[in-house]
Amino acid sequence: MSQHLSHSQLKNIAEQFGTPVYVYHAETIKAQYQKLTTAFTGQDVKIFYACKALTNVNILKYIKSLGCNVDCSSINEVKLALHAGFAPANVLYTSNGIAFCEIEEAQSLGVNINIDSLSNLEKFGKKYGHSYPVGIRLRPNIMAGGNLKISTGHDKSKFGIPVNQLSDVLCVIEKHNLHIHTLHIHTGSEIKDVDVFVKGIEVLFDIIPSFKELQVIDLGGGFKVPYKKNDHETDIDLLAQKVGESFADHPNPNGRPLQVWFEPGKFIVSDCGYLITQVNVLKDTGDVTFAGVNSGFNHLIRPMFYDAYHQIENISNPAGEEKHYTVTGNICETDTFAWDRKLNEVREGDYLVFYNAGAYGFEMSSNFNSRFKPAEVLVKDGEALMIRKRDEFDDLLKNQVEVL
Ligand SMILES: *Cc1c(COP(=O)(O)O)cnc(C)c1O
Repeated sequence: MSQHLSHSQLKNIAEQFGTPVYVYHAETIKAQYQKLTTAFTGQDVKIFYACKALTNVNILKYIKSLGCNVDCSSINEVKLALHAGFAPANVLYTSNGIAFCEIEEAQSLGVNINIDSLSNLEKFGKKYGHSYPVGIRLRPNIMAGGNLKISTGHDKSKFGIPVNQLSDVLCVIEKHNLHIHTLHIHTGSEIKDVDVFVKGIEVLFDIIPSFKELQVIDLGGGFKVPYKKNDHETDIDLLAQKVGESFADHPNPNGRPLQVWFEPGKFIVSDCGYLITQVNVLKDTGDVTFAGVNSGFNHLIRPMFYDAYHQIENISNPAGEEKHYTVTGNICETDTFAWDRKLNEVREGDYLVFYNAGAYGFEMSSNFNSRFKPAEVLVKDGEALMIRKRDEFDDLLKNQVEVL
């Protein structure tokens, strides 16, 4: 993994803005996005940033400034994207399990929509017929991704319409003369093996002849990022090569060249983010030394939720002797960030930094234990800008109605 902000930059930010604080490095986002656009040079490919990974409006505006499009998972994300200035044509709403009224709202806002159930497809057909081109989210029945919790395309997954129900899909399309613009699949997250995407394309190629007006194949997101030394990133150049070959081998039977869309979230923003915490308490229990920081799974849930690994560094004592620590939080629930981790000697008050905290970090945070959500800081052109204030006590009461 690459480290783009230095210890001293991070320390200055911690001192200026307090901790815990999320820090994002704009130029890392740009570098990740450019890896994608460079790899697919010469192919008709569009990238939609899956913004559920990190939705701060400044991040959305920055990503828009790079020329990237945006993929949304709720109608509120659609509205945030439009608020950030994305044109409706550059916004995609790929939903799961949502009420039809959200699809109606998305239609009225003019954004691209991928529908993921027969029931909503039927309602959409009844209401809009051929008038509004739409995408279908299919479930390819492929097992892929880092673990079961982040695998979405297998044959027990709730996501998408199973490809084996194609005849039902075609019935609905025919009945309402639907204009199917896109076929979408998203098989999971942390997919290292690029052949998974090729397999997905092959599943789609079998059924493309049934979709006469098809213009787009949307292969979803899920590219893997490295979390530690010797970890591998999805090989985007190899992916681009294989996708290119696959499309060259399978010209669209309907004559029209197909555009390819991707929806990476983690790949674009994971590495740009840091969570800086401070050590409250050291507790030596004989077997284990706990380094208790001023955060918890209320701020970064990935270790407890997915067994995710985050590299941790003690930026206050980088030359200190290496010792083993179990890094835990300050909430009343088991909130272990790392077991038996080697860190430079930790002292109370030291800053511990969690890497790869950009994706699904702040975004999944909560006020559990009535703790404040952290501040967020964006470093761009060497300047540290606060892009979200830390919560204050009033925020905890803001929506409560005191009736007693
Ligand atoms: C979450 C999601 C993504 C992004 O997944 P990453 O693993 O962050 O790349 C893309 N598309 C859809 C439909 C998603 O739900």
